[in-house]
Amino acid sequence: MSKYQSVRGTRDLLPALKKTFRSIEAKAYNAAQNYGFKEIETPIFEFSDVFHRSLGETSDAVSKETYTFADRGGDSITLRPEGTAGVVRAFVSEGLAQHNPNKLYYYGPMFRYERPQKGRYRQFYQFGVEVLGLENPQADVEVLDLAWRILNEIGLGGKVTLEINTLGDQVDRKAYRDALVQYLTPLKDQLSEDSKVRLEKNPMRILDSKDEGDKKLVAGAPKMDAFLSETSKAFFKAVTDGLSELKIPFQVNPKLVRGLDYYCHTVFEFVTTELGAQGTVLAGGRYDGLVETLGGQKTPGVGWASGVDRLADLCELNQALQVPAKTPIAIISLGDKALVSGLKIASALRAQNKYCEVFMTGNFKKKLEKANKLNTEKAVLLFEQENGEIEYKIKDFKTGEEKPASFEDCLKI
Ligand code: ATP
Ligand code: MG
Repeated sequence: MSKYQSVRGTRDLLPALKKTFRSIEAKAYNAAQNYGFKEIETPIFEFSDVFHRSLGETSDAVSKETYTFADRGGDSITLRPEGTAGVVRAFVSEGLAQHNPNKLYYYGPMFRYERPQKGRYRQFYQFGVEVLGLENPQADVEVLDLAWRILNEIGLGGKVTLEINTLGDQVDRKAYRDALVQYLTPLKDQLSEDSKVRLEKNPMRILDSKDEGDKKLVAGAPKMDAFLSETSKAFFKAVTDGLSELKIPFQVNPKLVRGLDYYCHTVFEFVTTELGAQGTVLAGGRYDGLVETLGGQKTPGVGWASGVDRLADLCELNQALQVPAKTPIAIISLGDKALVSGLKIASALRAQNKYCEVFMTGNFKKKLEKANKLNTEKAVLLFEQENGEIEYKIKDFKTGEEKPASFEDCLKI
C-alpha cells in the first residue's frame, strides 16, 4: 500500500465515477440555461466573516464543520462550506443588484469537517442556483421546477420525493421559536445531548433531530401553522398551488426546518430512501434577509443546492445515466516508423473531431484484440516494409474486410 492516502473524508473521482459526475453537471447546466440562469464562479475561500455572518454562528456548518485558518497575512480564511454565502457576497461586492433579477447557477467543491461516511464527505460537490431580486412566490415555483427537471433528466424522478414547508417571516418565526422553547424547556432533561445545546442556540433544529427520543418529544410540540400570519399563509399557498399546477408532486412536512439561519418562508428538500441516513439530495429555500446581512440593500432571494456526490451515488445504484461508450477509430501499426505515421493520421482525424486510439504496445495481434474490446468499427492498419515504405490498409471490423489504401484515403475514413 502506498505511503500516501487521500485525506480522510476526501475521495478521488476515478474516471467511471467522474463520468457520472460530468453527465450530471452537463444536464444540470443545460437545464439551468433553458430556465434563463447564468453561471457564476466565486472563490473557494472567503474571509471567515462571510460565512459567520450569513450562516449564523449556531449552524452546524459554521459552529463545528468549517476549515478555517489564518493565512500568511494573518487574515482569517474559511474554505466555503456551501455556495450561497459566496454568491451573495459577490452580488453585493460586485454591484449585481443593478441587473436584478439575477438568476445564477454554480458548481464546485465545498468543504466541511464532518464525520465521513457514505454520502458524507469532507470535500463534496454542489450544483446550486440562486434567484436574487424576485419576491414572488412564483420564483420559488420556478426554482423547484428546475430542480425537478434536472432530477428527471438524470433519471431520478421516480426515486425522490419533494418535501416542503414554510417558516413564515421573521416575526412568525420568532413567535414560534419562543413557543417551542416554552414547550421544550420543562422536557430538557429528556432531550438528547445535541438537542440540549440546540434548545439554547437554535431550538428549531430540534424539530429536525434524528434522535428517536427527541422525535417522540417533538411529536407533541406546537406546530408552525398556528403562528403564521395571513400573508405568510398566502405566500405558501401560492407556492403549493403553483407546484400543483405544474404537476410537481410534493408533500408538506411541518417538521422540515433547514439548518442555516437565513431561511424564511419556503424551505424544501428532495429526499430519497435509497441512500440510508444521507437521504437528502437537494435542499433549499427562500432567504429574504441574507443580502442585507452581508451589507447589501434588502433583496429577496430563493435558491437550492444539490449534493452531486449523492446524486451520482443514486445514479450508480439505479444504473441511471449509463451513456454508451463512444467507439474509436483504431490505429494499428507494425514498426516504429509506422507508429509515427499512425500518430500523424490520428492527429488529422482528431482535428476533424473524431475519436482515435493509437495502440502503442503489444504485437500486431494484441493490438487488434485491444481494438476489438473497444468495439472498434474501423481501423487504419500500417505496415512498415523492409525498404522503409509504409503500406496502409483500412479494416472494417464488422465484415472483417481489409482494403489497401493510400495515406490520403486514411484521412477520410
Ligand atoms: P445533511 O442534513 O445531510 O447534513 P445539510 O442540511 O447539512 O445536509 P445543505 O447545507 O443543505 O446540507 O447542503 C445541500 C446538499 O448538499 C445536501 O442536501 C446534501 O445533498 C449535500 N451535502 C451536504 N453536506 C454534504 C457532505 N458532507 N457530503 C456530501 N454531500 C453533502
Ligand atoms: Mg450537514
